[in-house]
Amino acid sequence: MSNSLPPGSAAADSVSLEQLPFDNSFARLSAVFYTKLAPASLPDPYLIGINPDAAALLGIDISQIAEPRAAQTFAEYFSGNRPLPGSDSLAAVYSGHQFGVWAGQLGDGRAHLLGGVRTRNGIWEMQLKGAGQTPYSRFADGRAVLRSSIREFLCSEAMDALGVPTTRALCVIGSNAPVRRETIETSAVVTRLAPSFVRFGSFEHWGSQGRDEEIRILADYVIDNFRPELRSTEKPYEVLLADVARRTGIMIAHWQAVGFMHGVMNTDNMSILGLTLDYGPFGFMEAFDAGHICNHSDDHGRYAFHAQPRIGHWNLLALTHALRSLVGPLENARSIIDDAYVSAFESHFMQLMRDKFGFATEQADDEAFISASFDLLQAQHLDYTSFFRALSHLSDVGTPADAGLRDQFLNRETGDAWLQAWRTRLTQENSEDASRQVRMLATNPKYILRNWIAETAIRKAREGDYSEVANVLECLRKPFDEQPHFEHYAALPPDWAEGLEVSCSS
Ligand code: AMP
Ligand code: MG
Repeated sequence: MSNSLPPGSAAADSVSLEQLPFDNSFARLSAVFYTKLAPASLPDPYLIGINPDAAALLGIDISQIAEPRAAQTFAEYFSGNRPLPGSDSLAAVYSGHQFGVWAGQLGDGRAHLLGGVRTRNGIWEMQLKGAGQTPYSRFADGRAVLRSSIREFLCSEAMDALGVPTTRALCVIGSNAPVRRETIETSAVVTRLAPSFVRFGSFEHWGSQGRDEEIRILADYVIDNFRPELRSTEKPYEVLLADVARRTGIMIAHWQAVGFMHGVMNTDNMSILGLTLDYGPFGFMEAFDAGHICNHSDDHGRYAFHAQPRIGHWNLLALTHALRSLVGPLENARSIIDDAYVSAFESHFMQLMRDKFGFATEQADDEAFISASFDLLQAQHLDYTSFFRALSHLSDVGTPADAGLRDQFLNRETGDAWLQAWRTRLTQENSEDASRQVRMLATNPKYILRNWIAETAIRKAREGDYSEVANVLECLRKPFDEQPHFEHYAALPPDWAEGLEVSCSS
C-alpha cells in the first residue's frame, strides 16, 4: 500500500486548511496507546513564523494566509484553539530512559497529534507542541516557551536542508500567555511534521510491563504504515530492528559530520524512523571540542558530542530489550544491532568525512588522516563549519586563497603542515580543483544555526519583530549557497554570545 497520492488525485496542488485530507492511522490503534483530547485554548494567538517549504509539502498555499484575517484563522488552527476539520487530536503514551536511568511512564505531556495529512509525498503527521496539558504532563504545564519553539522551528528546517533525517516544522504561533520557567516567559506552539512520532520509548512502555501483545501491535503498525517492504521478509521484526538500527546509525553519522549535538538523547527522544526528534538544548559545534556538552543540564556529559555514537548504540539496546518477545534473546538481537548500527554508522561517517575533505576515492590511510585532522581542529580551536567551508575553496597547490584558512589557525606553521598533508592526499587521487570545489561546497555548509543566530531571532521576536525568524529560516534553508545578503549569519559568535547557555528548561 502506498502512502502517497497519485498526481492529480484528492490532494490537489494546494488545499485550503479546511480541506486537508486527514488520515489518522495512529488514532485507529486501540485506545491503550493514547488519550484522545483537544488542545487547551491559547489566549489571543498570533503568527510568529511560517515555513513555506513545509507548507508546500502539505499542499498548503501560504498566499491564502496573506490577509490579516486569514492569518488570524491560521493562528487559531495552529494554536489548537480551533480544530482542523478531519483532525482527531490525541496524546500518545510512551516511557523511556532519561540520562541512562529508567524514568517510567512519560508520554506526550505537551504535544497533541492532530493526525496524518495525505500528500503527494506520503502521509505527514501533524503535531502541536506546547498546546496544553495531557494525562502525561505529570507536574508540568503542557506549554512551551517562545525561545524553545523558535529554536525547534529553525533547527529542524536547518537540519533538513543540511540533508540530516529529521522531523519538520510548519509554523510557530505565539501568545502573551505567561509561563513560568526560571523566569516568567511567554508561550508558543510549534507545529511539527513527521511520517510518525513513534519513539523507542513507545515500545519500552509496553516492554517494561511484559505486554507482548501491545509490542506486537505497535511493531505491526510501524511495519504496515512506514516499512511495508519488510512485511514479506522471513523475520519482519528482526528486519525492523535492523532497519531502525541502520537508520539511527545513518542519522548519527550525519550529526557528527555536521557538528550537531542533540543534547538530550533519552530513549523517549529517539524516533523509530531514525529522524532527529525533540529539539531542546541542542547545539552546533563551533570552536571544535570533541567533548563539548551543549546541554547545560547534562552535568556528566552523557550526551557530549563524542559520546553520541555510543549513546545511539545504548539506546538501541534499550529498544532491543523492549522488543525481546519479537526478536528473541538479547544476545541474538544484540548481534543484529551491532551489525546494522555499527556498519551503517561507520560507513556513512567515513563517506561523509571523505566528502567534507574533498576525497573522491577511499585510501588506506584515510582513517588516520581524518583522526589526525580532528586532533588538529581540537588543538587549534578551529571553528568546525568555517574550517571546512574555507577548505572547500582551496586549490591543490598553494595560492593566495590559502589565507582564508591559514588565518583561522592559532599556529600558522601547524596549519601549513596540515595543508601540505591534505594536498599530498589529493594528489594520490589526481584530484581536480574545479569539480572537487563544487562537491565540497555542496557538502560543507556556509550557514548553520549557531546559538547566537537563534538568540538574535528570539530577542527580536520577544519585542514583536518576527522578521529575523523569517530571515534566518530563509538563509538556513540554503545552507550551501553563497547568500551575500545573509553574509552576517556566517560570522563566528560575537563576544556577547560567549555566555549563552541552553538547558532542558523549555
Ligand atoms: P523532553 O525532555 O522535552 O523530551 O520531555 C520529557 C518528557 O516531559 C516528555 O514526556 C514531555 O512531554 C514532558 N514535558 C516536558 N516539558 C513539559 C511541559 N512543559 N509540560 C508537560 N510535559 C512536559
Ligand atoms: Mg521529548
